[in-house]
Amino acid sequence: MKLVTYRTPDGPAAVGVLTDAGVLPTGQSDLLDVIRSGTLPEPVGGPVPDARLLAPIPRPGKLLFCGVNYSSHKDENPAAVFPDEPFFFSKLPSSVIGPDQPIRIPEPHSQVDYEVELAVVIGREGRGIARSDALDHVFGYTVVNDVSGRDVQFKDNQITLGKGFDTFSPMGPCVLTADEVPDPARLFVASHVNGEQRQGEPAANMRTGVPELLEFVSRHITLEPGDIVTTGTPAGVGAFRTPPLYLAPGDTVSVEVDAIGRLTNPVVAGWS
Ligand code: MG
Repeated sequence: MKLVTYRTPDGPAAVGVLTDAGVLPTGQSDLLDVIRSGTLPEPVGGPVPDARLLAPIPRPGKLLFCGVNYSSHKDENPAAVFPDEPFFFSKLPSSVIGPDQPIRIPEPHSQVDYEVELAVVIGREGRGIARSDALDHVFGYTVVNDVSGRDVQFKDNQITLGKGFDTFSPMGPCVLTADEVPDPARLFVASHVNGEQRQGEPAANMRTGVPELLEFVSRHITLEPGDIVTTGTPAGVGAFRTPPLYLAPGDTVSVEVDAIGRLTNPVVAGWS
């Protein structure tokens, strides 16, 4: 089941089921409440006209991002090495936007980049989760674009500020429930800028897989329903191209995971 958060021109945010026919209403208003309830919703009507998708979880509690988890991305960055253990940082809930909402470049000289990432949506609270139980704590999967201001991120290692700008965490288009993803390693992640493919690899290329990432991070942090845990990005980001190729106003960037869908956002100038 593909669950979305949407709104209509005159209506409040609501939870729907995304189908080939469109978005079907569920009578639920908050996907976090659905996740906490432990019960998947049922459609209660036909397709909603003029449904505009929001981020499936517009304000998640925690956004735990894994860095340097594909060897191809490590190899394209001359300064990167694999850490001894999985590397995590957090992004800010206020940076989350949904499909088609603009990514705002902060300043004319900003070096803004894209990173496709498969993201885990936590369903059941846990701390000290064993890898053998980890997938039982997963509600589903979504796609995030780990938009990164490289000029800020790489100067003095300001990762929270460089990745925390408003609009820098596009999420969506849906959450694909875990019952439809028996093995997240069989998914394929890709990105496109203005229709040109920039990234594309099987999730099986992750150095540390989803069960092991959840085991590791939950040794330190209690995972709660609706938290987001990402899995890193493969090679092909703009910063390590020759010459570097950053996002610019007028661009359109898409990130996708095959079974989940494609998340597309326009890029605009944030200073004007
Ligand atoms: Mg990343």
